[in-house]
Amino acid sequence: MTKQNVVVSDVKGVAISVAVSNQSFFSSSVVPSHLDAPGGCITISRNKLLRLENGGGARISAWVESMRASSPSRMKSNNTSSLSEKETDEQSSWTLHHPSALRMFEEITSASKGKQIVMFLDYDGTLSPIVEDPDRAFMSNKMRNAVRDIARYFPTAIVSGRCRDKVYSFVKLAELYYAGSHGMDIKGPSKCHKYKNENKAVFYQPASEFLPMIDEVYKILSEKTKSIPGARVENNKFCCSVHFRCVDEKSWDALADLVSVVLNEYPKLRYTQGRKVLEIRPTIKWDKGKALEFLLESLGYANSNEVLPVYIGDDRTDEDAFKVLKDRGQGFGILVSKVPKETSATYTLKEPSEVKDFLRRLVKWKRLSM
Ligand SMILES: [Mg+2]
Repeated sequence: MTKQNVVVSDVKGVAISVAVSNQSFFSSSVVPSHLDAPGGCITISRNKLLRLENGGGARISAWVESMRASSPSRMKSNNTSSLSEKETDEQSSWTLHHPSALRMFEEITSASKGKQIVMFLDYDGTLSPIVEDPDRAFMSNKMRNAVRDIARYFPTAIVSGRCRDKVYSFVKLAELYYAGSHGMDIKGPSKCHKYKNENKAVFYQPASEFLPMIDEVYKILSEKTKSIPGARVENNKFCCSVHFRCVDEKSWDALADLVSVVLNEYPKLRYTQGRKVLEIRPTIKWDKGKALEFLLESLGYANSNEVLPVYIGDDRTDEDAFKVLKDRGQGFGILVSKVPKETSATYTLKEPSEVKDFLRRLVKWKRLSM
């Protein structure tokens, strides 16, 4: 372990020098190379030091590392011939604990006896494939038809990190509920009212006071990230997404660091980590899980045993909803993933095409049982 001098510059530009353990405090991914100074000194702002002390930097760099480990190039080099024995064991143990929702279809439908199924669907990576350009994450017509059919038989909500208007422009189905910006912007169907309590108009925006702040951060990040090729900032109204999908792996640390430094100035905002995306959102306790509870309540199922919510999603942010279902002991979370991941979901589906198969099967089963 080596000791290294760190120069901490405060707001007025006064430099304070402290000695720290290089190995235990910093990882190379936390301190960008341009901060290296001659004489073994690192210049680092006081705010940044506080952030590192608070673990923010370590958390963000751990996220970059996990993203790197699961990047296609790394996966390819790890899988040169076939999966190792350990990986195969891990995969089968995971599949055992989180079996395929297609394989467990009968269990799901028999649990719904006497209950109203309510469907909750994430968008990116669930109904549409993950693509490089987030503006081109289109869903197929076949998937749209499957979702349209599902909504004929069950109240259906799209729950996405995207802004509500954007996700609606992809899905284009007026008969659904939409919870955009991770559930911070909820609106009921603009047509077709046939379920319990559906005549009541649903509209809820728990974080409206944060709109100007999110907009300000979006503008700052859009400007600052111009120096990093491929970086993309998306304004999702109540949250702001920084996309890493088109950024060279070598620049991931620099981009994550930049986001972290900007966020230091906004204590009322926080970031959450998704699939190659950092999402900046208000610190209020509201997430996809809260949105699920809100929608169930709006439909009149707050404390009801007559409902079976089914939530399908592929990302960390969907875990909040899986956890709500697990804690309620009601319904099923279905994680969309090909690889083992820690999850509170009960079942899994490998990819959007399996989600489509599952939705179609559910429609067929419902038609036959009517
Ligand atoms: Mg997703």
